[in-house]
Amino acid sequence: PLVRKEISTGSIVLDTVREYTKKYPLCVLLVQVGDFYELYESHASRYAPQLDLKLTKKSITVDTIVDFAGFPLRALDRYLDILVNRLRCKVAICEQFGSVSRQDKSALGIQRKITRIITPGTVIEERFLESNQYNYLLSVFPNKDSTIGLAWVDVSVGEFVMQQTTLDALKDDIARIRPREVILPESMKPSDDLLQQGLFDQEVYDPVTRLLITDPNIAISYVDDNQYNAGTAVRTLQNMFKSNALEFSQIELAAGMALMMYVNETHINRKPKWQNPSRFSMHDSVCIDSAAMASLEIVKSLQGRRTDSLIGVLDCTSTSAGSRLLTRWISSPLTCIDSIRNRLDIVEYFKDNTFLLDDLRNLLRQSTDAQRSIQRLALKRGQHSDLMEVWYTLDIMKNIHEKLQQTTSEPTQDLVTSMDPHESLAHYIRDAFDHERIQAKEIKDYGFVNHAFHPDLLQLHNQLDELDTQRLNLQNELRLLCGNSLSLMADGPLKHIIEISSRKAPNLVEKFPHAILLNSTKSKKRYQVKEWTDISVQLGSIESQIIDIESQVFDQVVDKVLDQSATILQSCRKLAELDVLTSFSHLARQNRYVRPRMTHANRTMILGGRHPVVEANLSRKGQTFVRNDCDLGADQRIWLLTGPNMGGKSTFLRQHVIIVLMAHMGCFVPADRAWIGITDRIFSRVGAADNLAQNQSTFMVEMSEVSTILKQATARSTVIMDEVGRGTSTTDGFSLAFGILDFLHNQIKCRTIYATHYHELADTMTGYDKIKCYKTSIEENSLGGFRFVHKVEPGICRQSHGLKVAQLAGLPTQVIKKAESMWNILQNSQVPIVPHLTEPNYDEQKSIV
Ligand code: ADP
Repeated sequence: PLVRKEISTGSIVLDTVREYTKKYPLCVLLVQVGDFYELYESHASRYAPQLDLKLTKKSITVDTIVDFAGFPLRALDRYLDILVNRLRCKVAICEQFGSVSRQDKSALGIQRKITRIITPGTVIEERFLESNQYNYLLSVFPNKDSTIGLAWVDVSVGEFVMQQTTLDALKDDIARIRPREVILPESMKPSDDLLQQGLFDQEVYDPVTRLLITDPNIAISYVDDNQYNAGTAVRTLQNMFKSNALEFSQIELAAGMALMMYVNETHINRKPKWQNPSRFSMHDSVCIDSAAMASLEIVKSLQGRRTDSLIGVLDCTSTSAGSRLLTRWISSPLTCIDSIRNRLDIVEYFKDNTFLLDDLRNLLRQSTDAQRSIQRLALKRGQHSDLMEVWYTLDIMKNIHEKLQQTTSEPTQDLVTSMDPHESLAHYIRDAFDHERIQAKEIKDYGFVNHAFHPDLLQLHNQLDELDTQRLNLQNELRLLCGNSLSLMADGPLKHIIEISSRKAPNLVEKFPHAILLNSTKSKKRYQVKEWTDISVQLGSIESQIIDIESQVFDQVVDKVLDQSATILQSCRKLAELDVLTSFSHLARQNRYVRPRMTHANRTMILGGRHPVVEANLSRKGQTFVRNDCDLGADQRIWLLTGPNMGGKSTFLRQHVIIVLMAHMGCFVPADRAWIGITDRIFSRVGAADNLAQNQSTFMVEMSEVSTILKQATARSTVIMDEVGRGTSTTDGFSLAFGILDFLHNQIKCRTIYATHYHELADTMTGYDKIKCYKTSIEENSLGGFRFVHKVEPGICRQSHGLKVAQLAGLPTQVIKKAESMWNILQNSQVPIVPHLTEPNYDEQKSIV
């Protein structure tokens, strides 16, 4: 009979597997069978090795033998982590419902249904998410006219944004949004042949696919083209948010609709909370192009680490929500001078009120990630601890709110008015639950609700206590008789039994002659005894009544929280804002940053500027950073910086734009004083980021980045360029540099710092009145030794000191000697290494400015 049962269950499961594999062809299917999740057929053969599971064969019928692997239910998280986070797969979870029939132990009463699709962009469980990073799912809708609709959401907090962009700007948008998963219309899916070809030449893909497919951090999913439906989106948005859907363009709405449908399909029968959609407009924020985002190491270093990046140094926030918000602020700084000044006012206020600042930061540290808790509750994945987190945060918010109310400061008033600590809701949650029990994480099915909260609970608990006393009395009495190994058992396959060592069993039977022996081993015997059964049955019934009431209370409290979730989330966002702003105040005090003066002038003047990340690294080693001034704009719009390798050129360039960026975020800056003229875009062409994956040479990458800059920069942009044209011959490189500088000077007229070690370039640019030459140099001593001083001063560095740096790097003396003799020959030679150059002739009508 055992074999027959196995076969019938197996074929039912296999039918389910095949049905769902057809329905969800792109998912790895995990099917619950009893206490295990199982993978069958191709799911097993493909993923068992990657999951380190044993791949076996299972006989389903006499002639159906399939590949099979499995793991226990409790190990689900571990395997999901590998599948979703590491392998970037979509996983369909098929859960089992109903119980095994008591009579014949057959599994025919069991049903299996897909309860959830887990994808990298729609997970909500804290363990799969980085607490300080958004987890964005992005929907892309390319229109025929090369405009593109974008919509993205972080399902774990419900933040929902839409934007209209262009094919040219898409790369920068992706760099800013940093999605974990992107959805595209099915019709864009490359065929298998194309996928094969693409391994060798990505030019075969359309430009959007090429951009996304080459990013290893993005999982791509395709959805039916019909889901990109702007008409339905208008109605849905109006129903969901009562918002004016007409604020959004058709292609934004189309992208938004596909996004909403996808999220709903992955969270089957559950409705995540969406915040009111907002519109991202390019004009409201400083655009940092993707190359600048990477090379300035803003959110991660070139090696991929957050700690060594700008955000690694700037992030002094106290909460995860604050840290996430900081990531957003750093990738899209403001362009509106009033909004920046508002932030700066608040930062300044807290910086000057140290006690208040410390109090607020201490309070913030005690709050929790209520935004994500609310979303878990909305998706029915929440637990008691999530309700507690909401309460803690509201409670902390109340304290913070009181402290802010006491201040008379003008700038903080907006925070006061838009933060609502929902006091009565907070009290309601507090009164409902026994938070110590919840915190203790005791593994019990009940006991979380305060007894006084529900009229029946108190009575039930009294009865429970009474029965528990009876249980204890019986146990004590029997243990006196039969020894301490006797135990009264309530659960397990045989309920309500007394287990006792075989040796002492006669004592029990003597006391209860009616005891029924259920089973026995050499050392133990199990009996059913009416006295214990009566108590145990009653205990079980009371416990299940308590569990029922507690789950009703839980649902009731969750409903109340969800009813007010929109305003709670709004208050949590204000709390996150307060966190970021107070972190800026703290940073300013700790690192001696100053308030930048924001102006409308096309000029940036920084006195005593420092590079925050290099400074932090140096100070860890006990070294000091050499401050430098920079005045860019007016009659010196382009700084042409010459100097030896290692002299500090690229540090100076980067520090300039980093200070500009920080100022636009509303953060104080590492300088003695700073006047920052609002800029619209930040471009950087520094460092040689090889892009071998895209089959482009370093020089090609460099030139396409320069080309982007020259096409997109406006007179209000800030550009830094370092050693452009290194990847080609000296003559080519030199000539290109000349052409680029000329274009920046005469056509674009933006603020630029251009570093080079061709001092001849500086000589060639003398006729350009807005170009000024600066240099970094080295200090030599009488013994022939030297050191880098990292000071930027007016002038041209005429010696590249390349041989000295090479010597420092440990090149053999013999090589250096030979090089020196060649250097002397070249110095005295009459052969010009720089060709004669003529000024290009631009068509003034087509001028960009
Ligand atoms: P370059 O671009 O001229 O080759 P870098 O900017 O890469 O030079 O600087 C080389 C090293 O010098 C940096 O790694 C940094 O540690 C140090 N450095 C640069 N600028 C400064 C400064 N202003 N103060 C102190 N150290 C600096």
